[in-house]
Amino acid sequence: MQKGAILVLSGPSGAGKSTIINAASDEIGEYYFSISTTTREPREGEQDGVDYFFVTKGAFSKDVLQGNFLEYAEVHGNYYGTSLKPIYDALDQGKLVIFDIDVQGHRLVRKKMNDITTSAFITPPSLQALEERLRARCTDDESVIVQRIENAKSEIKAVGEYDFTIINDTVEKAAKEFVIVAKAARLKQSREDEKKFIVEWLG
Ligand code: ADP
Ligand code: 5GP
Repeated sequence: MQKGAILVLSGPSGAGKSTIINAASDEIGEYYFSISTTTREPREGEQDGVDYFFVTKGAFSKDVLQGNFLEYAEVHGNYYGTSLKPIYDALDQGKLVIFDIDVQGHRLVRKKMNDITTSAFITPPSLQALEERLRARCTDDESVIVQRIENAKSEIKAVGEYDFTIINDTVEKAAKEFVIVAKAARLKQSREDEKKFIVEWLG
């Protein structure tokens, strides 16, 4: 029985990652969306334990010291981290685990779990489109938007580190591409499973 696999999604804040996952969720089969822990303030409408686990810097540092994170990074002046335990549980259950993490997080996951990881960089067609969408989302102050746009200018340079690029032009088209990528991600076998397969295949 094949164990689970990881699909890392990165892309500038406002790229449409949440929108695309929601639009495709009925078609990608059973998956576990990794809920990150963050020190950032909740946006209007965001719920603790649904969008993120919102914690203080003190609680975050404690998790870091206890080795509870698979990876963590500072993004736009706040800390974000992926807790290890729920990820291992979901992988043991053979699920596809989807991460929405930044480019630094992707590099760390690649170092630790490269053999079961597939990745996609999601971006609007242009910087201008990103700016328009961030403003239309109306969830961030002007200073936060400016910071996110600056960050996007450097994040886009990492696009070549990913297996796939999904241009979020229309949600419908991007969601279709995302479904294909998610299906491909499920087929990725761990080195351990490959070895077992070869032994069994040889009979
Ligand atoms: P992310 O999760 O990457 O930060 P969101 O999914 O919150 O991004 O999308 C950012 C904003 O852009 C939201 O207001 C969303 O409704 C809008 N949006 C997403 N995809 C598109 C698209 N293809 N065309 C126009 N607006 C979009
Ligand atoms: P936002 O504040 O818009 O929700 O997220 C800001 C950025 O942090 C996004 O690029 C998002 O992918 C990234 N991010 C969210 N959770 C994590 C995490 O657990 N680890 C890392 N490295 N980045 C994360």
